[in-house]
Amino acid sequence: MRRLILPFLISATLSAQAVFDTYFVPGTLRIDYAQSGGAYNVKFNVLQITKEPFWGGPRHNLTDDFNFGNYRVVVFDSLSQKEIFSRGFSSLFAEWQFTEEAQTKEERFLGTIIMPMPQRTVKIVFYHRDAYNNWEALKHFFVNPASDVKPNHHPHIYETAKIAYHGHPANKLDIAFIAEGYTEDELIKFVEDCHKLADILFDTEPFKRNKENINIWAVKAVSKESGVSNPAANITVNTVLKASFNTFNIERYLMLTDHYTLRDIASNVPYDHIYVVVNTDDFGGGGIYNFFSIGTTHHPLAGYLLSHEFGHTLGGLADEYVSEDTVFAQIYDKMIEPWEANITTLVDFEKKWYHKVDKDTPIPTPEHVEGDVIGAFEGAGYNAQGIYRPMKNCMMRSAKDHTFCTICDSILEAKILYFVR
Ligand SMILES: [Zn+2]
Repeated sequence: MRRLILPFLISATLSAQAVFDTYFVPGTLRIDYAQSGGAYNVKFNVLQITKEPFWGGPRHNLTDDFNFGNYRVVVFDSLSQKEIFSRGFSSLFAEWQFTEEAQTKEERFLGTIIMPMPQRTVKIVFYHRDAYNNWEALKHFFVNPASDVKPNHHPHIYETAKIAYHGHPANKLDIAFIAEGYTEDELIKFVEDCHKLADILFDTEPFKRNKENINIWAVKAVSKESGVSNPAANITVNTVLKASFNTFNIERYLMLTDHYTLRDIASNVPYDHIYVVVNTDDFGGGGIYNFFSIGTTHHPLAGYLLSHEFGHTLGGLADEYVSEDTVFAQIYDKMIEPWEANITTLVDFEKKWYHKVDKDTPIPTPEHVEGDVIGAFEGAGYNAQGIYRPMKNCMMRSAKDHTFCTICDSILEAKILYFVR
C-alpha cells in the first residue's frame, strides 16, 4: 500500500506548493484595520499595510472552509479572480457591541489580518454576518504589493526562545507566547513560566496527541513594571501591552486593546496564534477566534486558562457555561443557529454534532443521564435555557473539568491539522 500512496502524497504536496508559489512570495502581508460603530453598525477602515519577515502559516490550506467567526476576509487574485486566501475571525469590537454603552455611543477597536505576501495585485473583501448569520460584504479594496506595502519599522525587537520546536513553521501550528508585565530582571522567570504552560498544554488532549504538530515560541517583551493593571482595584501598572482586568466591567475579563503593538511584538517569530502570558497571581484571561488569547500565569488554574482561552482562539469554541448577569448573555439569538460548532439552539442542529448523537439519546438530553453521553444538554453560551452543549462536562464549561468534551476535542484537532497539512 505504501508504494501506491506515497507518490500521490508527493504529487499533492508539490502541487500545493506550486499553487502557493504561483500567488505568493516569502514574507507576510499585514493589514492593520480599525472597526468602528455602535451596537448595530460596523465599519472597517484600513489604517496601514506593511510587510513582515516570516510567514508561519500554512502553504496548503490557504482558504478557510470552517465558516467560523463574526467576520471573514477573502483575498482574490486580480488576474484570475481566484480566491487565494480567506480567514474567518472575531474581535473585541464584536463583543463590545453588546455592552450598554454601545447603545448610546460609537467606539473604535483595532485589529490585524496577516496573510502570505501576494506576488501581484489582490482584491481584499471584508464580510460580516447579517441578522441571519449569512455573510454580507462590508468593504473591498485593492493592494498592489509593489506600491501599497510599506516596510514594517518594527519598533519592538525582542529576544526570542524556542519553547517547543518540532519542525518547519509551514507544517506546524505555531503558537507565540508573549510576555506581559515581566520586567528585564524577570525574563528568565518568563521563559520558565512558558515551559510550565507548554507542559500543561501538552498534557491536555487534543494537544497531547498532536504534540509533534505544534511549535511554541516565546517573545521576551520587556515591561517597565511588573504585574498587570486592574482598574477595579485602582492598580495601574506600566506594561508593554497595557493589558487590564475588568474589561467591559467584568472583573476577571483580562484583555488588551493595543493590537498593533501586540502584532509588532508577535512578528519577532513565525506564528499562527498568539497567547499573551501575564505575570500575576490573579485569575483572569480572554480569548477571541483568530484574534488572540491571554491569561494569567501564576494562579493555580493558569493551565486551565491557557487551554480554555486557546479553545476560543484556535477552535472558535463558545463558552459552555451559564452567566446570565454579564453582557455576553445577549450575544446569542435563540431563534438563530449560532456559528460556534460546540453549541446549538436546536434551530439547525443537523449542521452541528447531531450525527454523533446515539439514536437512543433523547434531544434535549436530560442532565441525569449516566456516563459520557453525547447529546444536547440545556445550559450553554451564558444562557440557562434555549442553548445546548454536547456533553455534561467540558473545559469550555468549567474549571473543574480537565478535559474538552468529545465535540470540542475534535474541532480543536481539525484546527491543529489545518495548520499542519
Ligand atoms: Zn465542549
